[in-house]
Amino acid sequence: MKVAIMGAGMSGLSCAITLERNGITPVIFENRSMVGDRFVNAEAMFCVLNRPFKDEIKYLSENCHIDLKPVDVVEKLTIHSKNETGNIEGKIGYTNIRGRHKNSYESQLARQVKSEINYNSTYDYAYLCKNFDYVVLATGDGQYSSAIGNYKCDLTVTIKGATIEGNFITKHPHVWFDYDVLPKGYAWIIPFSEKEANLVIAYPDYPDNLKLDVDVMWQKAYDLACKNLKQSFRITDKFEITRYMMGICNKAKIDNTYFAGNCFGTISPGLGFGQFASILTGVYAAYDICNIGVYEELTKPLFENYNHSLVFRRFLESLTNEQMDIHIKNLDSKILDSLIDKICSTDGGIDLLKISTPLMRLWNNYKEHSHNK
Ligand SMILES: Cc1cc2nc3c(=O)[nH]c(=O)nc-3n(C[C@H](O)[C@H](O)[C@H](O)COP(=O)(O)OP(=O)(O)OC[C@H]3O[C@@H](n4cnc5c(N)ncnc54)[C@H](O)[C@@H]3O)c2cc1C
Repeated sequence: MKVAIMGAGMSGLSCAITLERNGITPVIFENRSMVGDRFVNAEAMFCVLNRPFKDEIKYLSENCHIDLKPVDVVEKLTIHSKNETGNIEGKIGYTNIRGRHKNSYESQLARQVKSEINYNSTYDYAYLCKNFDYVVLATGDGQYSSAIGNYKCDLTVTIKGATIEGNFITKHPHVWFDYDVLPKGYAWIIPFSEKEANLVIAYPDYPDNLKLDVDVMWQKAYDLACKNLKQSFRITDKFEITRYMMGICNKAKIDNTYFAGNCFGTISPGLGFGQFASILTGVYAAYDICNIGVYEELTKPLFENYNHSLVFRRFLESLTNEQMDIHIKNLDSKILDSLIDKICSTDGGIDLLKISTPLMRLWNNYKEHSHNK
């Protein structure tokens, strides 16, 4: 059986590992010259957003034989709004490195792959489709799925980030929601060592935001972060992404093509998390090819999760700074911490995103209705 994997990233490499374990050697095509050949950044996985999985890293190791070593366990997340600061404490998730770094997740995955990776590939999807029994499309964005007419794009986002040097606690990332600084967007700091972190901003490309200067926006977020964390960070490496697509495919599989990772739509529009679901789609595509599972069935919860996350984004966008302040202030509660702790320490159990979706939808409809009046 001839299987082509287009893209040696999170989903493509996870697919390869799973195929190999089941006796199939895929041919991997990567258009860059090495795995993770891009800027280095820190990312996170939060189990509250990936229910019913309690511990994604443990799950991947025990059930999928995919071993990933994170930077650290997140034990505290500080959320800053315009006038308030709130903390969520407990074992919330993990942080990790991505990109051109020997410990990045894609580098770790590549070390577990035995099949050959064809670098600097110029083969296009149409060629692979014609010459292979199956193609796993894992190129890391919705472009190909869109071109095939199999993608609903809900928004695009402008992202600018940098590596900053300072003093950080690797168990403790920060997020900012201040719509005077970043309209309908957010900023975050995720440390990847005690001396280095990423400061990133992301805001949607809505008409009102198109006039914004991304450098000015990033500088504002940088000033805010320096003020709140009482440090003056040294900037080392910068990166920028324009029109980063957030959307989802209509069909997870068409003929001999599997849509995996961001080609599927694994990036959650709420907070932009997509790593875990990307790995899952790679694993699930391999299961289908090996007749262990049915891709369309296995990916159903990911469609659902995407839709809940989109409602969450619309909810966040609908809030004023004053309303955001109230929510953030209420985060500092022992009851919430023990709820989060309970959620993160039990299998199955409560899916906070899912159960709060009807309420957020009601609120969103109310806000839209009053806006249109
Ligand atoms: C700045 C930023 C911060 C993020 N933070 C988080 C976070 O904190 N937590 C989280 O869970 N998610 C986060 N995400 C999202 C997460 O990184 C993605 O959802 C995930 O990497 C998608 O995996 P993938 O396999 O689809 O794509 P990738 O891992 O990007 O892999 C795609 C691969 O395909 C290759 N490729 C592209 N085109 C071709 C082609 N034509 N032929 C061959 N190969 C090709 C690329 O070079 C790349 O190697 C973030 C994303 C960004 C941009």
